[in-house]
Amino acid sequence: MFKKVLIANRGEIAVRIAQTLQEMSIAVVAVFSDVDRDSPHVSRADEAYHLDGIAPSETYLDAHKIVEAAKHHKVDAIHPGYGFLSENAAFAHLCADEGITFIGPSPKVISAMGDKIVAKQTLETAGVPLVPGWSSDDANLSDIRKAADRIGYPVLLKAAAGGGGKGMRIVEAASDIEGALGAAQREANSAFGDARVFVEKYIARPRHIEFQIFGDHHGNVVHLFERECSIQRRYQKIIEETPAPNFPDSLRQKMGESAVAAAKAINYTGAGTVEFLVDEHGHFYFLEVNTRLQVEHPITEAVVDQDLVRTQVLVAAGEPLPFTQDQLRQTGHALEARIYAEDPARGFLPSTGLIDRYHQPHGRWIRVDSGVRSGSLVTVHYDPMLAKLITWGDSRDESICRMQWALQRYVVLGVTTNIEFLARVIDHPNFANGDLHTHFLDDNDLSASKSGNVPDEAFIIAALTMKRRAASRSRTSGDDESRPVYSDTPWQSSGRWRNT
Ligand code: ADP
Repeated sequence: MFKKVLIANRGEIAVRIAQTLQEMSIAVVAVFSDVDRDSPHVSRADEAYHLDGIAPSETYLDAHKIVEAAKHHKVDAIHPGYGFLSENAAFAHLCADEGITFIGPSPKVISAMGDKIVAKQTLETAGVPLVPGWSSDDANLSDIRKAADRIGYPVLLKAAAGGGGKGMRIVEAASDIEGALGAAQREANSAFGDARVFVEKYIARPRHIEFQIFGDHHGNVVHLFERECSIQRRYQKIIEETPAPNFPDSLRQKMGESAVAAAKAINYTGAGTVEFLVDEHGHFYFLEVNTRLQVEHPITEAVVDQDLVRTQVLVAAGEPLPFTQDQLRQTGHALEARIYAEDPARGFLPSTGLIDRYHQPHGRWIRVDSGVRSGSLVTVHYDPMLAKLITWGDSRDESICRMQWALQRYVVLGVTTNIEFLARVIDHPNFANGDLHTHFLDDNDLSASKSGNVPDEAFIIAALTMKRRAASRSRTSGDDESRPVYSDTPWQSSGRWRNT
């Protein structure tokens, strides 16, 4: 087993990976940029290496600096987390060349799945259902136009090298295709240095359902069931859950088999995710394979009772998977909400600054994976996701109820967060009914508090009145001034902490 592992990442995921490594008696080496010196992921580690600079390109994305750090600290392996270098085949190659184990699949698989055109072609031969579409490495306007006519509008233009929803354009009618293609190609070129774009049928109101897969170096492949990730904003997941609600067992079975077939077709090793769209008629279509640990992996851990980082480490060290398909069961229900430093009332503008006060909820069935604490600085340089809140319950209702309670007690002062927005989504009757699809947040605009500012003002005035009353009462009766006043107060009726 490895003695020392470097985590090529920051924030909550670096802290989370360190937790498992240390539990396995593996020493942890952190890397940190100029502004991350005092971050939890650094204080948590056994050793740390300074990456000179701030921008991702000169720190967490600089493959050569990371390998230099790994050699300096004499580590056996590198865990890339998600984002940054996690899906960079050249980095995985570089690690191999230096004799360092990359905790992830082979560079060949990473590069094949990183190209959506290659991925679709590869999986089609494995019998995995694809979204009807058309692709070619040198597609021109007339090819794309013909393909779109054949598929039928609306269609979606997507970047071959795409990720994070970049380079995607919905085209409603033939007259819009020329402009949309130009825009998608320009965006793809500037984001990924690769202008190739392909065309797909645009599925109306789909659900995003993905399957966790795992393969080892002994030919074993399993899936660890699904995650429903339909609550999205601009193609980015915000709330995830497992098991997916209103999801027939027969479909779960079929999609699980498809995910395993996909993994086997590419000799997959390590943790991965096969993403699908499910349409209103229950037909499912392959979207892409993510060759890394996903942000939302904790809900799978909660429901199948496994540590996925531990499994990644075992597989990377050459051990067989510690479970068979038959041993895996879904027990209860788990939800994850992503806590972002952003302002939903101002178009989800990222919010930066110092976190003066940070308090996270606690409970036996509540997990918080956080990369911040009181005194942390949130900068413009990195992803604004601060933490993930995960709740588990015997039933979906129970984990929702626990999530509502936990969100109410989550306090982040100093930067604006999406906590109240998340609570509004979780409180929505359509969410409670499990009526989910990727346009949920377009159909239900929950970005601004319905009550506006008036109740806040009323709240402050009432609070001041209470304080005055309490002071005058203690003067007349000699009461202890610190004794709480329990009357019919807004503190009681509001039922929610506010970040003011
Ligand atoms: P990325 O790699 O950029 O994240 P994906 O292919 O994973 O792109 O798709 C992200 C999201 O975009 C999906 O979860 C879904 O909401 C939407 N999407 C992608 N393809 C389609 C499609 N053919 N029809 C409708 N929505 C789609």
